[in-house]
Amino acid sequence: MLEIDKIRNNFPILNQTVNNKPLIYLDNGATTQKPKQVIEIIEKMYSEYNSNIHRGVHFLSNKSTEIYENARNIVKDFINAEKREEIIFTKGTTDAINLVAFSFGEKFIHENDEIIVAETEHHSNIVPWQMLCESKKAVLKVISADKNGELQLDEYKKILNKNTKMVAVAHVANSIGIINPIQEIIDEAHKIGAKVLIDGAQSIQHKNIDVQELNCDFFVFSGHKMYAETGIGVLYGKKGLLEEMPPYQGGGDMIKSVSFEKTEFAGLPLKFEAGTSNYVAAISMGEAINFINSVGIENIEKYETELLKYAEEKLSSIDGLTIYGKSKHKTSAISFLLNGIHHYDTGMIIDKLGIAVRTGAHCAEPTMKHFGITGTVRASFAIYNTKEEVDKLIEGINKVKMMLG
Ligand code: PMP
Repeated sequence: MLEIDKIRNNFPILNQTVNNKPLIYLDNGATTQKPKQVIEIIEKMYSEYNSNIHRGVHFLSNKSTEIYENARNIVKDFINAEKREEIIFTKGTTDAINLVAFSFGEKFIHENDEIIVAETEHHSNIVPWQMLCESKKAVLKVISADKNGELQLDEYKKILNKNTKMVAVAHVANSIGIINPIQEIIDEAHKIGAKVLIDGAQSIQHKNIDVQELNCDFFVFSGHKMYAETGIGVLYGKKGLLEEMPPYQGGGDMIKSVSFEKTEFAGLPLKFEAGTSNYVAAISMGEAINFINSVGIENIEKYETELLKYAEEKLSSIDGLTIYGKSKHKTSAISFLLNGIHHYDTGMIIDKLGIAVRTGAHCAEPTMKHFGITGTVRASFAIYNTKEEVDKLIEGINKVKMMLG
């Protein structure tokens, strides 16, 4: 049994009132709160060890570098990558996808090649591919979702063909919480020689990820959604592929030697880390993973799945409430609307009760269009949420119904 009270006590921000009510934070899909150990490591970095990494021979620079590179090792072990060079620190998921779209695209995408994304993607996993298709005269194809929001594998198999070079799909759809069948998606793509990028922004904090077992070519995620700081993310890529890809940006740290005649690039992973990276945030990500490991990712998955089931049952029993995204395979997010009530109105009234939920299109306009709506209310959970908080959410929703229904 997890001691959720103890875990909650580690998150100082949760211990406050909002609108004179105890804060109930259910917007974890957007960003999670930070445990004390992450806040403390950031403070320690700036009060004891701060110095630019990979730059100096002096004590502080060596110390910063050592802690930064150790964070890379922690990430490598967390997702079971084979080699540390396969872990590239980026600004976040969006930055990692743009890196792959640009660099992989530069090398491997040509006129009439095809790239596949899913209908339920976040804009971050649509727009960079659209931009690439535009510049290379390639074609973007879409795996459609069924009426519940589940991806239609039959449709996917039909659009895969010898021109497909890249399949980019989310592990978990951020707007509706459905876990996509990525293993089948990866295996099918590989049969025809296409590469696969998995957007793990909404799975890394909820599920055990083993990139070698998945055999995906790229896996990307953001630190701030997994209890770490903002401004940091990870691109995992298979070493052989990353080696073949050109740098995304040029500058300091990504070179071996520079002259006006010729520049030689550094090897992996630095080839893709131009400029001063957000090394303190990367270190915070290492510490966030230490936190997750101390609870156990399997324990987190089990607890959050139970919480989601509880929330789904309770929400389903409310008259006039529609849940968007129905599947046996879901994690940690539930999207809904009250009949005839705008999602913003629901969100604003619930906020008066101290409850933070997300309202809007969740950067997934095509998903909203699929359901014929403009947005939803989304409650998304993290390890510190409780059934009591779900009960308060239900009370809040009933209040909205009473006031506006
Ligand atoms: N993909 C998914 C599935 C997401 O949920 C998000 C964040 N909402 C992103 C990509 C973009 O992440 P970031 O803003 O941290 O780059």
